Amino acid sequence: MRRLFNVLSLWCGLVCVLAGHAAPAWGLSLDDKLALLVAAYPQSLSHVADGRLHFRDGGPPLAIDDGRTKTHAQALESADVEDMLSQPYPIGPCETRSEVDIDPGRVRSEALLKRLYGASREAVIRQLTTIDWFGARLKVTTAQGMDRALLKVRDDLAKLPETVMQPASKSAGTFNWRVIAGTDRLSVHSFGAAIDLDTAYADYWLWAGGRPGDVPYYKNRVPMEIVEVFERHGFIWGGRWYHFDTMHFEYRPELIAIARTAGFDACAAP
Ligand SMILES: [Zn+2]
Repeated sequence: MRRLFNVLSLWCGLVCVLAGHAAPAWGLSLDDKLALLVAAYPQSLSHVADGRLHFRDGGPPLAIDDGRTKTHAQALESADVEDMLSQPYPIGPCETRSEVDIDPGRVRSEALLKRLYGASREAVIRQLTTIDWFGARLKVTTAQGMDRALLKVRDDLAKLPETVMQPASKSAGTFNWRVIAGTDRLSVHSFGAAIDLDTAYADYWLWAGGRPGDVPYYKNRVPMEIVEVFERHGFIWGGRWYHFDTMHFEYRPELIAIARTAGFDACAAP
């Protein structure tokens, strides 16, 4: 299965780019994935019609596909909704090693995130709340139920043995309106929809001397029990990215729903 994943990842890396990320992933069509996207954000998303995503607030619909064929770097730079769903994210308590430029979840439509969480720092701040995180106070968004999902993560982490959950007991940050290092793209932290864990256990592709598209392997130090808890409640892990960021978890319930529906199991035995 792991080999199959690698082969298909490579295949998608080549073919999806050539086809403008239009190839179906794991038996799910783009329409299937869009239905799961709408279901994952019921607070804001209404339906899909005429190639556009419609919103409950009656605001302007968002085009799903800009029709451009993109390299991975270009998809990262200016993703549309279709690009955002193009790389399947695997779930389960097993590590996965991504092929070059397979970064499931790292390609994001900033236009969509702004509609889900707020289009400016002030708009995001208006929807923040403070939650208790093992004695610390973290600011996260209430939009899309992210705060409630993170509280479920916390409560499940608290059930793990103390030695296992140790890396999750400290957070290096949640809300922070900022761009991703070395880019002019907003980090998901800008929307209050991501959490970084203790940097003492973190591995990050830039710290490891990586360059875009040329990244060394890393040895994971975040227990997979922690990853499994986050995924259970709709968060993806940056440790599954080729451009890895192992302290980073972000709320992406659509990708978790797609993985569950498609049976994309990180642990499937070879
Ligand atoms: Zn982060």
